[in-house]
Amino acid sequence: MDPSRSTRLRTAPPGVLPYYLAVEVTAVVLPFAVPSAAPSGREWLYLAILLGAAVVQTELSAKAERLQRFLAGNPYVSVSSVWFFAAALSVPPAFACLLAALIYGHVWLRMSGVPGARLYRVTCSVATYAVAIYAARGVADLAGGAPDLAATAAAGVTFFLVNTVLVMIGFKLHEPSRPILSFAGSVSENLLDAATLCLGGTAAALLATWPWLVLLLVPPVVLLHRGELGRRLELQAHDPKTGLLTIAEWRSRAEAELSRTARCGGECGVLMIDLDHFKRVNDTYGHLAGDAVLRAVAETVQGEVRIYDSVGRFGGEEFVVLLPGIGREHSVAVAERIRDAVGSLAVVVDGGVRIGGLSVSIGVAVSDGEAVPVDTVMGAADKAVYAAKNTGRNRVCGGR
Ligand code: GH3
Ligand code: MG
Ligand code: MG
Repeated sequence: MDPSRSTRLRTAPPGVLPYYLAVEVTAVVLPFAVPSAAPSGREWLYLAILLGAAVVQTELSAKAERLQRFLAGNPYVSVSSVWFFAAALSVPPAFACLLAALIYGHVWLRMSGVPGARLYRVTCSVATYAVAIYAARGVADLAGGAPDLAATAAAGVTFFLVNTVLVMIGFKLHEPSRPILSFAGSVSENLLDAATLCLGGTAAALLATWPWLVLLLVPPVVLLHRGELGRRLELQAHDPKTGLLTIAEWRSRAEAELSRTARCGGECGVLMIDLDHFKRVNDTYGHLAGDAVLRAVAETVQGEVRIYDSVGRFGGEEFVVLLPGIGREHSVAVAERIRDAVGSLAVVVDGGVRIGGLSVSIGVAVSDGEAVPVDTVMGAADKAVYAAKNTGRNRVCGGR
């Protein structure tokens, strides 16, 4: 589970800081309250192998620049629990915690200087895992000791539950109005946790028999990590309300397409679409109905363009469309098609009320092969929207 989704600590609700401190104090006190024996020579070897595997895996996982930027916002690398769950089962718990601290120290160093990185998230993640490590080890010892299947499974479930509950409490304190179960994580997040714990259990079994073979687990863990990051990057690229691209994602696609157009020649159309008098929809039918209208319009716009055109949500009730390879005349034709389709929309909202009579003002701008910044093209489309508004709305401007 991902304890790093929480935002700024300074502006967090009361209770968050004391809670984090309590988890951190518990993590510091545990090694004194439950003293561990010093590791044997073999256990030092296990620690070194796990640390080496974790460092290589983190380096490979963070290699792509986009993934690294993503890591800045989410320093908690949930797949790292492969290595510290393996350590929880294989070395004295205080040293498994030390391994978690070293792994996170490495992640932190890799993130330093990247905007968005927060030290408190890292320390909080280590503390949460330290508590989970002690709990898992306690249960494993009670159940007969790893690498026995039942003991490993019981320890895995304990590790998962302790970690999940601690993270859920943190989230609940951040957002008290949401029910606590809504922080339980999606099915795929929980499956990822289960997969990492299975690999951690496998690593523990390998350590007990052929320790160096643990290194063979590095590629599957990297793959698991990349798959998860890819899924989350995909989610981040979309506006949750309309399902359209976020403006950041749309901009980066537009930048790439405009520079390709400048390099290779050709044209590229940009449409800026603004719903007319949308405030009236909210004022008449309420904001939930307004949201339903936004979704319907988004779907309509998407339905009127080709699969390789990009539709984004620029802001509240404004949308942007990128039309690669499309010149002025055809961009205007697409805009008119969208205007027509929105005009014939009838959105049925809760209570069976039909909302129709919608219209949009659309500004068209085209890049015709010259190297122009995306802001220039968007600025021209925006100006054209204003022209459409000023000349009566429900029209397309910028066609000449
Ligand atoms: P105009 O024809 O000049 O564009 O008029 P308008 O009412 O569409 O424009 P205005 O900028 O005055 O109002 C935009 C409205 O869009 C106000 C705001 O409440 C609404 N809005 C913005 N985002 C959302 C949203 O996510 N959901 C809902 N329901 N309304 C939104
Ligand atoms: Mg507007
Ligand atoms: Mg508007």
